[in-house]
Formats: sequence, structure tokens, C-alpha cells
Amino acid sequence: MRTPIIAGNWKMNKTISEAEALVKEMLDGLTAIQSVEKVLCPPFIDLDRVASLIQGTNISLGAQNMHWEEKGAFTGEISPLMLKDICQYVILGHSERRTYFGETDEIVNRKVKAALSHGLTPIICVGETEAQYDAGETESVVRRQVEGVLAGLSAEQVAGLVIAYEPIWAIGTGKAATAEQAQKVIGGVVRATIAQLYSQATADQVRIQYGGSTNSKNIKEIMSQPDVDGALVGGASLRPAEFVAMVRITAELYQ
Ligand code: PEP
Repeated sequence: MRTPIIAGNWKMNKTISEAEALVKEMLDGLTAIQSVEKVLCPPFIDLDRVASLIQGTNISLGAQNMHWEEKGAFTGEISPLMLKDICQYVILGHSERRTYFGETDEIVNRKVKAALSHGLTPIICVGETEAQYDAGETESVVRRQVEGVLAGLSAEQVAGLVIAYEPIWAIGTGKAATAEQAQKVIGGVVRATIAQLYSQATADQVRIQYGGSTNSKNIKEIMSQPDVDGALVGGASLRPAEFVAMVRITAELYQ
């Protein structure tokens, strides 16, 4: 039985005071729900304040990116060493990092290894572009990404990962994948690839999220799919009532 996990990716939104206000609006609603793991992923600058606000609660904290080195001459970067005392999770390989900042599977793989070696749990993003979807390349693209980001990891390391399948055409577009599409890729490609690379037992332990225009209206159907273990939520995670509703609807499915 995999514990469902809903993570809110705030992206480049919220000043420190705005972050504080947002967390305060969600805190009671989120902490009241036990059966779903909740992760907030604010911008770096907000992490410290959010950490204080959620300290002692059942809410976890995640960063949105990370460098693979521990320290050094990497102006503007944040290291796993800096994150490990404050965060439990780190989103790696988000499509916006891949598209705007040139991150490749090889870079994501290095970051995954660095995160794991510092005790951080990566939420690794994979997903095809609209052109790849239209060309019928979803399966080959996602399989290649999964193989690339997991290269060199042990079965034990893989079992503890969170992977987010996020079709790029669904991110921030209001055009979510159907529940069937999500299941087909998450079960038939992501989990199946891990089973081939490692074992079915390992694949069965990995938590795999869907991401892309999720909201309180479509979360129930998406979360009802057997291989979907959660959601990586962008826009809706900035709307407190909406985000709490998504977590509550998910919890109801797991009662
Ligand atoms: C995301 O950025 O990971 C995401 C899924 O965004 P949205 O929910 O806004 O589509």
C-alpha cells in the first residue's frame, strides 16, 4: 500500500509575507487530513518561513530545484547541503527547468544522486511535449527519461523515490490528461520501465504522481486510477481552499 502524496509547486510565486499568508490559510485544512502526505514546495527565499509555520505538523517541505555539488563557485545556486536540514523533498527535472534552463536527463540524474546522498527525497519529473504526444512518441520519450534519470541507482534508492509524470501539454494549460491517459503512462510506461530495470517489487514501491492542470474537479477521477499515487500541483496549489479540497478528496478515496 503506497501512501498518496500531493505536492504543491508554487513555482516563482509568493514573497515571504505572501507565503506566510498562504500557509496560514491552508494550515488547519491540511493538518486535519492524515491519510495523504502533503508537501509544500515554495521558492527558496520562502523556505525558512514556511518551515517555521509547518514545524511540528504533518506537512512536509520541498524545494523546487537544487545543484548537485555541495558547495563552491556556482553563483546563484543552492546545494543539497543547504537544503537537507530544512527540506524533506526536492523537485528535480521539472519541465520548466528542462525547457528554460537546459536541464537534461544526465543533469537530473546527477541531482537525484546528490539529493539521495544527503537524505532528500527527489520528486523527479518526466513527460512528453505536445509535439511528441502528437507524433505518438509518449511511450518512447517517457521510457528514455525514466532510464536516464535513474541511471546508476540501486533498487533500494529507486523504491523510495517519487516520480511525477507531467505531460508538458497539460502543465498550466487547463487541459489535463484524462484519467485513462495518466494511468496508461504511469502504469504502462513509468512503473513498467522500473519493473524491467529493477523488479516488479521495486516498481510497486515507487510513488508516481500525475501533474498537469489538476484541480478539485478532476482529482477524484485521476486519483482513482490504480497506478496514480498522487499529484504534483502547480496553479491550484496557490489557491488554499482548492488545494485543501484536492487533498481532502484524495483522502476520501483512501479511507
Ligand atoms: C506543475 O507545474 O508541475 C504543474 C503541474 O502545474 P499546473 O498544475 O498548473 O498544470
